[in-house]
Amino acid sequence: MQKINLEEQEIKKFDDQASRWWDKNGDFKSLHKINPLRSNWIDSWINVAEKEILDVGCGAGILSEAMAFRGAHVTGIDMAPALLKIARLHMAESNLTIKYTQSTIEAFSDRSNKKFDVITCMEMLEHVPDPKSVIQSCYKLLNPDGYLFLSTINRNFKSYLGAIVGGEYILKLLPRGTHEYSMLIKPSELSLWLRNTNFEVLDLCGLTYNPISKRFSLNNSDISINYMICAQKC
Ligand code: SAH
Repeated sequence: MQKINLEEQEIKKFDDQASRWWDKNGDFKSLHKINPLRSNWIDSWINVAEKEILDVGCGAGILSEAMAFRGAHVTGIDMAPALLKIARLHMAESNLTIKYTQSTIEAFSDRSNKKFDVITCMEMLEHVPDPKSVIQSCYKLLNPDGYLFLSTINRNFKSYLGAIVGGEYILKLLPRGTHEYSMLIKPSELSLWLRNTNFEVLDLCGLTYNPISKRFSLNNSDISINYMICAQKC
């Protein structure tokens, strides 16, 4: 039997903090801060209205809701049950319709006949044992010419200081222990996995944080810490 591509401890870590996800000034404030930026960036590549979107590792639905709000038909999958419960409650409060399912992308792709126009997988790859397998399953689930949007954190001394020491311990943009250095992913590694899976990489865009203004911004010339990739199925 195929080994499940999942780190139990990682899921538990996120699930235990479920009730705090939608507090915009709370433990997950960085996801709320980057949400308008990443939603606009995705929409600038493909207008998401009326598109079929799969949000992989959707958490409590911060990005799923932003996409649904723009008129997309969204399916969200995650393995953390308490987070999915919060996602469903919040969706009802927001008057949106999103299909939330507990699944890994591998199991979902094995049983789904449906194909998607867009797949988003944000801030998740650095929490799974085999990120390549996630990319391969995304490929299977996309329509021809479909778009894949990924975001993760670079692996170098600056990102260790910026994302882990600074982000989790000093600026408290995320709970302590969210990220493990060895699981972070270099853009060159991610781009190679994408090309080897037959994706064309269209954009590599940095997300930089200014501790004085307390704002994130898109930055095409700085991918040293947080970054996003847009790729298209060939
Ligand atoms: N994508 C969301 C949440 C990112 S946090 C956002 O950017 O707002 C990472 C999420 O990935 C958590 O919700 C965690 O439960 C989920 N996750 C981690 N490993 C997973 C796996 N193998 N399958 C599905 N979800 C996973």
